[in-house]
Amino acid sequence: MSAKTIDGKAFAQGLRTQLKGEVAKFIDQSGVTPGLAVVLIGQDPASQVYVGSKVRQTQEAGMNSFEHRLPDTTSQSELEALIDRLNADDSVHGILVQLPLPAGMNSDAILDRIDPAKDVDGFHPVNVGALWTGADALVPCTPLGCSYLIADVLGSDLSGLTAVVLGRSNIVGKPISALLQKMNATVVMAHSRTANLADVCRSADILVAAVGRPFMVEKDWIKPGATVIAVGINRWDDGKLGGDVARDAVEVAGAVTPVPGGVGPMTIACLLTNTLKAAQMSQARG
Ligand code: NDP
Repeated sequence: MSAKTIDGKAFAQGLRTQLKGEVAKFIDQSGVTPGLAVVLIGQDPASQVYVGSKVRQTQEAGMNSFEHRLPDTTSQSELEALIDRLNADDSVHGILVQLPLPAGMNSDAILDRIDPAKDVDGFHPVNVGALWTGADALVPCTPLGCSYLIADVLGSDLSGLTAVVLGRSNIVGKPISALLQKMNATVVMAHSRTANLADVCRSADILVAAVGRPFMVEKDWIKPGATVIAVGINRWDDGKLGGDVARDAVEVAGAVTPVPGGVGPMTIACLLTNTLKAAQMSQARG
């Protein structure tokens, strides 16, 4: 039997359609249009594509998009001055600095400078702390998208289920672990120093692979019927994309995200969700 394909593209489309309605309602009630500022430094081709998609989808959702494309000669202090201006600008509810920043720039200092209330990427220590303490937070977009896909398959209460998260980065592994614990799963965080990885993975009712190693998770690492979320994206020499999970995993798993078309499309949809949330929080604060 073949696993159910978790169609992230269709789910993200549904989310964006719903969001568009919520944005229109918010504007109607408050007279305020949510605004997202996206900052891109340099000419990295992948980043150019991501930023283009973010700008287009923000506008399609009925929100304001403010684009700041700066040369890679921009200094740390110039970027910090821009962040300060955006923090002070009432028409900007969300600020996203496209990573990676050019070599020599201190990313942590930039991310820490963003007002936590406008931190739609959810990377500021205040939001990280809020997520881990169970408070309401702006949550990193890719993990948030993963949690929506998991809830769509299994429901939002994962009591009694074991989740294994492969990868412990601040951007994906740690926040998805926090979200899964919030959903009552028993969470195991695995990484490059974990022993007997195959056995650990075989204990997972939910397996999230966020490593960035093509097809690392083999078919016999997967518990029959498990829900498998493949976050890692790997590009082959021929330009095709592949995930961290072997293709024949579908013969064992209960549900699997494809790469591409699984987790990827959820990231921007969740960025838009976070922007509306930031605008709503700003309005509530008055
Ligand atoms: P990082 O490189 O920051 O983290 C990778 C993690 O994988 C680390 O925790 C590392 O462990 C772990 N790891 C590396 N090798 C092994 C191994 N052999 N066995 C077990 N664990 C291992 O990557 P990110 O978390 O930022 O991203 C992970 C993947 O997800 C990438 O492919 C990235 O492109 C993709 N991604 C996709 C997104 C999307 O779909 N929109 C968004 C963000 C990321 P250790 O900590 O011990 O070094």
